[in-house]
Amino acid sequence: MYDIKNIALAPSGEKKIEWVRRNMPLLNSIEKEFSKNKPFSGLKIALSVHIEAKTAYLCEVLTAGGAEMYATGCNPLSTQDDVAAALAQKGINIFARHGVDAQQYKEHLERTIQNGPNIIIDDGGDLAELMHTSYIEKIKEVIGGCEETTTGIHRLRAMESQGILKYPVIMVNNAKCKHMFDNRYGTGQSVWDGINRTTNLIVAGKTVVVAGYGWCGRGVSMRARGFGAKVVVTEIDPVKALEAAMDGFSVMPMEQAAELGDIFVTVTGCKNVITEKEFVKMKNGAILCNAGHFNVEVDVAGLERIAEEKQEQRTNIMGYRLPNGNWLYVLAEGRLVNLASGDGHPAEIMDMSFAIQALSAEYLAKNRGKLETRLIAVPEDIDNAVAEKKLVTMGISIDTLDQEQLDYLGNWKL
Ligand code: NAD
Ligand code: SAH
Repeated sequence: MYDIKNIALAPSGEKKIEWVRRNMPLLNSIEKEFSKNKPFSGLKIALSVHIEAKTAYLCEVLTAGGAEMYATGCNPLSTQDDVAAALAQKGINIFARHGVDAQQYKEHLERTIQNGPNIIIDDGGDLAELMHTSYIEKIKEVIGGCEETTTGIHRLRAMESQGILKYPVIMVNNAKCKHMFDNRYGTGQSVWDGINRTTNLIVAGKTVVVAGYGWCGRGVSMRARGFGAKVVVTEIDPVKALEAAMDGFSVMPMEQAAELGDIFVTVTGCKNVITEKEFVKMKNGAILCNAGHFNVEVDVAGLERIAEEKQEQRTNIMGYRLPNGNWLYVLAEGRLVNLASGDGHPAEIMDMSFAIQALSAEYLAKNRGKLETRLIAVPEDIDNAVAEKKLVTMGISIDTLDQEQLDYLGNWKL
């Protein structure tokens, strides 16, 4: 069942899980409740999420709820082998290894679903795609799915609008307590953690170019400014571009920004955001990385084609010498820099995202057979409960409206 040979790494993985367990209070309380009520009793859950300590704890929480867990990663470089080993030792069916090639990655996805899952937890839609292509005969067993990230929602929307989607999917990413915190503050912090620990260079005084000013881009730009960088934003959406400008960032097309940047971070969910026409304009020594979904935002394949020499500089830093003599440095093969070259978002952030995952999965189990086959918003009471409980864990209390204020706000006649 367990695919990797490094079971000896389990104690190190267990320590990592123990550390996050102490910093994920919402999941602690959900674990207690699930242990009592067993909402997933008799159900198989297939999960494809970064195999990292916080995800491991989510797997434990779902197992405590009675689920038979089948887990794999959602990115070949983000799997931490010691964490996978610890999960295997706990009896969770885990199929994941760091650095697998595309074929092995797909095999792991297949092994996660080939027993016919009832609930699917996806990060990016890879399991959904496979269920709807190669495992369609198993799809009638699926009660529903939960999707963790923006790009996964885009892919599922395309399936829904083409009439292909065969089970209801809860849009975890779109919950307020997910994208407003995970995508913004989680990505904002963990991207810089990934860049800094990989390069060990100063950010202050440099020009950082951030492509995309969505939830992730706002966080990455905000934290770059905090480090003392001059920040340039590139966008394709006029409203987001305006927002970036009024937030005090320089806004310009990528072709122009290419000449100025010392560090480039793409967070668009799009492809070919930085390509050859920009590479040739970049400064010698420019650093390029991506924190959006796939490794196609920076056209690494294009860079490979035009480079005259390629040399690994340090772990996760590949240098490319262009025909003009300049070196460009790509971090983590252009894959998510915060996860392929770091531990991803901090525990307190994933506590919120995964609380929504766990409660949404419970909602699917409770409403088996009653939900329409379409994309479904996270119920508002789940979103609000997560915010309320998170405030309590942070020792923050807030005001409540009295009757007079409620009447005032509900009145049209002043
Ligand atoms: P979003 O939709 O809020 O923002 C994306 C922004 O990129 C939009 O404003 C869009 O106009 C802009 N954009 C699109 N194409 C562009 C282009 N070619 N050039 C410049 N700007 C462009 O999405 P988001 O929630 O910020 O997520 C962005 C990506 O990051 C998605 O792929 C998502 O799955 C991924 N994500 C990664 C992490 C992580 O841990 N690294 C966390 C959350 C989301
Ligand atoms: N399949 C994609 C995954 C997109 S990753 C890929 O190619 O890598 C984006 C998602 O990762 C975010 O929505 C965020 O919730 C999740 N994430 C960030 N840090 C994480 C962590 N430490 N553990 C698990 N998931 C994490």
